[in-house]
Amino acid sequence: MVIGKLIEKSNEILKKSGIQSYRLDTCVLLGKYLGVDKSYLITHKDAEVGDTDGFFEMVERRANHEPVAYITGNKEFMSLEFDITADVLIPRPETELLVEAIIKYVGNRRLDMLDIGTGSGCIAVSCCYYCKNLMADAVDISPEALAVARQNAKKHDIGRINFFLCDVFTSFPDKEYDIIVSNPPYIKKNDLPALMKDVGRYEPESALCGGADGLFFYRVIAKHAKTRDILAFEVGAGQSNDVANILTGCGYKKVEIIKDYSLIERVVIGRYR
Ligand code: GLN
Repeated sequence: MVIGKLIEKSNEILKKSGIQSYRLDTCVLLGKYLGVDKSYLITHKDAEVGDTDGFFEMVERRANHEPVAYITGNKEFMSLEFDITADVLIPRPETELLVEAIIKYVGNRRLDMLDIGTGSGCIAVSCCYYCKNLMADAVDISPEALAVARQNAKKHDIGRINFFLCDVFTSFPDKEYDIIVSNPPYIKKNDLPALMKDVGRYEPESALCGGADGLFFYRVIAKHAKTRDILAFEVGAGQSNDVANILTGCGYKKVEIIKDYSLIERVVIGRYR
């Protein structure tokens, strides 16, 4: 079958399954399958593809609402490619705001950072990639996630991150850090069933659920964090004031809130002095 026809068929299957981004997803999946970029697909519509089974298996998975990143096994974040498995949350563009704020704060300084709930490692790895003197500890409760995060650090040749298994509810890292950062699970337990199929069915619940009111992680982290400078969080829509109050209640002097591109208050940063 020629590339043009494959695109047409995939678009048809995905559209019928209610995938709104069907055109983009078709290009990403076919590009991955053939190992080519989008412009190649557009300029080689008449090129014959011999074995198409593997491609239609990918399309079928997407038609069942599995996220593209789990099918291709990777996702771009902060202009870096991250390996992704179903054991980790897929990095989101909003999280780039949190990372940008940290990069701006750190610059070239030699500082120590802790990333809590590192998942794919996207926050710790990209901060260390862009801040050459930053040292980091990155923790997660999931050994599978830590394996993915370690792989991503290696992929980008970052040797300055120490990854370790940790459940912040039972043993909080004892060291004092300049910066503590976290994009913790923040969805309310009762809101989980209403999540988009792509998210709720496929992304790990442990990376999504923040307890009954969605704020469990913010409370425990703000209470136990030993930070010399800043504590920076990503928060869910409508949580910024609650999280800002948690921070002031724990002695943080100044609290800054940053909006995302949809004008949702998305990043909350507390300064200790
Ligand atoms: N720190 C990772 C990210 O921002 C994982 C976050 C999580 O699992 N809640 O993508």
